[in-house]
Amino acid sequence: MNSEIQLSLFNDDSNPHQQGLIPTDSKIPIPPGTYANMTELAQHCNQCHRCELGNTRTHAVVGRGNLQAPIMVIGEAPGQNEDETGLPFVGRSGQLLEKILASVNLSTEHDVYIANINKCRPPNNRVPTPDEMVACKPYLLEQIRLVDPKIILLTGATAVKGITGDKRGITKIRGQWIEWEARLCMPIFHPSYLLRNPSKEKGAPKWLMWQDIQAVRAKLDEIQQNNKSVT
Ligand code: SF4
Repeated sequence: MNSEIQLSLFNDDSNPHQQGLIPTDSKIPIPPGTYANMTELAQHCNQCHRCELGNTRTHAVVGRGNLQAPIMVIGEAPGQNEDETGLPFVGRSGQLLEKILASVNLSTEHDVYIANINKCRPPNNRVPTPDEMVACKPYLLEQIRLVDPKIILLTGATAVKGITGDKRGITKIRGQWIEWEARLCMPIFHPSYLLRNPSKEKGAPKWLMWQDIQAVRAKLDEIQQNNKSVT
């Protein structure tokens, strides 16, 4: 037996990550700590077929923004613009989200990282199925671990359901702080809902969003102030 074959006997074939199986089978777990950085994670997402959405995507849409941001925004799944560009929230909804953030001096350059529950576009922009959400969730959990945000904003009912399992309508739970996995989260309206409901009158969705984003700004200021006092 030559030395190369002998050495190959030392390979650890029991580790599915070494066998490159993660992208192809949703039954293979992706344990916390699998990815050292977002680039490695994005490479896997772009080869992934853990669910059928992998068959029709142009690009997997992993995330954009500051990789050390104190706030993470989580949406539902990519639409057409996102599938074409590989970036989340780049259409009209994305522009509105940037405006909402800017209204309280927050930006994706400094303060915010944006990701979705599912990385690949569902055909005809349908809502991802529960199985598709479960298949993709390990990637999102790894993104949350890597970015380590202080605050997570869940845009729309699907994002809330995908993360916390709470199936209540977004109008019932928006604006409320909830604790999930020792992290502070707030469900907020999805920007596309605000585009369909343009009224700014008191009590209208846009007015409610203004209250919510101000509460988020105040909470971030409070957290950062507390961190300064500790150090
Ligand atoms: S949506 Fe997620 S789980 Fe499904 S193929 Fe794309 S990256 Fe993989």
